[in-house]
Amino acid sequence: MSHHDPDCLFCNIIAGQIPSKKVYEDEQVFAFHDINPWAPVHFLLVPKTHIASMAQVTPEQAPLLGHMLALAPRLAAEQGCNPYPEGGFRLVVNTGTEGGQEVHHLHMHVIGGPRPWKKG
Ligand code: AMP
Ligand code: ZN
Repeated sequence: MSHHDPDCLFCNIIAGQIPSKKVYEDEQVFAFHDINPWAPVHFLLVPKTHIASMAQVTPEQAPLLGHMLALAPRLAAEQGCNPYPEGGFRLVVNTGTEGGQEVHHLHMHVIGGPRPWKKG
């Protein structure tokens, strides 16, 4: 079941109402380049349905989260992250204000590429 929150930035990006640089899309997820990248590769992988954060995840959503985790390495490689173990990538899911979350639609940062990085 897909849920769109008209006040949510990432829901509007998924709907194409706000432009983004798309990395990948399927029935369940959307991925796009972070507007303020920390590293040579930095994109966000988000569920198409509006889930505010990891704090709201239910057991029924475990397959969706598994899909995101399984997809991240493939997209990271396609976007230019070097192979493990010399290369690699970082997956970050900020959750809540104290967790550093600014946009309240669940998103996984996929960050990588040759160092140095601007941050992280
Ligand atoms: P977080 O702090 O984990 O909530 O991360 C939100 C991320 O969204 C930040 O890294 C921002 O740079 C990124 N961001 C904010 N607005 C946009 C946008 N319009 N397009 C792409 N990325 C965005
Ligand atoms: Zn949303």
